[in-house]
Amino acid sequence: MRTIVQKFGGSSVADPSLIKNVAQRVVHTKDEGNRVVVVVSALGDTTDELLDLVHKITDHPGEREIDMLLSTGEQVSIALLAMAINKLGYSAISFTGFQAGIYTDDAHSKARILKIDPQRVRQELDQDKIVVVAGFQGITESGEIATLGRGGSDTTAVALAAALKADLCEIYTDVDGVYTADPRVVPSAVKLDSISYDEMLELASLGALVLQPRAVEFAKNYAVPLSIRSSFNDYEGTLVGEVESVENCRPVSGIAHDLNVAKIGIFDVPDCPGMARKIFLTLANEKINVDMIIQGWVRDDRNDIVFTVTRGDLERALPVVEAIVKEIGASGFVYNDQVAKVSIVGAGMVTNPGVAADMFKVLAREGINIEMISTSEIKVSCIIQEDQSIKAVNALHAEFIK
Ligand code: ADP
Ligand code: ASP
Ligand code: MG
Repeated sequence: MRTIVQKFGGSSVADPSLIKNVAQRVVHTKDEGNRVVVVVSALGDTTDELLDLVHKITDHPGEREIDMLLSTGEQVSIALLAMAINKLGYSAISFTGFQAGIYTDDAHSKARILKIDPQRVRQELDQDKIVVVAGFQGITESGEIATLGRGGSDTTAVALAAALKADLCEIYTDVDGVYTADPRVVPSAVKLDSISYDEMLELASLGALVLQPRAVEFAKNYAVPLSIRSSFNDYEGTLVGEVESVENCRPVSGIAHDLNVAKIGIFDVPDCPGMARKIFLTLANEKINVDMIIQGWVRDDRNDIVFTVTRGDLERALPVVEAIVKEIGASGFVYNDQVAKVSIVGAGMVTNPGVAADMFKVLAREGINIEMISTSEIKVSCIIQEDQSIKAVNALHAEFIK
């Protein structure tokens, strides 16, 4: 018997009729003779609405209480979906992250899953039940509820699929699959039939919201076949796996953009060993993730270091940076949160020289200034002004995905 994990995002369970629609899909999969585990997100925009409530109460809510609040969103959906499935004459049981045996570290609001003990889930599957699990949440060693970061239900689903050695993990969402760019921003984007784990990981990490990057890491590490598809139709979705990308004939498979970026520059950092360690270890200790880092040419035994963080971390990062600047004797710092990152991604880039230059050519032609650049074997990313990002993504798509 096959085990299938199906994950339904917020837009797929936004109201009671959609929840009933999801229940129909789930029981159909069960009828096909599968053991079915379902992971659900909070209804519609519930997570955002809960966060809005927080800001109406306080500016300093404390991360433990935020997670306590946000985890309630998914608990509403699991109970309602289990009821909807039961009403169809099937037997379903809902579990919180804790009940499903999902253990995380204690990094509230961006916790990582450390291990899964799916014993109770297995027991219920053995009893022929459909198991409905709350996405986005787990329990820390000290018994606190922790959430997995925005989009974290994807990771719950894939991690559960890995722990259960499931045959397939299906991610149901509001688009038909993974596109060559965000279809809401680039109308000419096309759906990919398949994409490799590595390319998907880059796209997701570079801002393609359709999958949380950590979910793709799990899928790759545990060889979980993933299918991304719509909960609103029956079209074949996109297969993410150890596939030879069908797009290999062109160097670029997808374009991503990310508005959740802020840039910080530290001026006149003394040019001696240990400075970068000091800056980035201090930020890491404060659980501030740093993405791109650029260090300039040395002048008069000093150089500038520029790096990016997520916008949500900027407020916490600034006092930390201010203290570092004083401690290391740098001359000052600046920041800008009106920037965006645009990226081109493709495994075929390795064998196609000149792709980066082509990207810079397109941006120049559009009059878009590049503020930072970073490259890897299969991607090139540029930081640009936020208000130019839509123009940039569309121009890059027109150039590379013909
Ligand atoms: P869910 O609530 O189902 O988790 P999300 O909003 O998190 O859905 O993710 C789906 C959204 O991801 C789509 O509506 C789309 O706008 C966005 N997206 C960004 N990049 C891509 C891409 N390359 N392919 C498909 N969707 C993308
Ligand atoms: N509800 C959470 C969010 O909105 C988790 C998820 O949907 O994956 O980010
Ligand atoms: Mg999502």
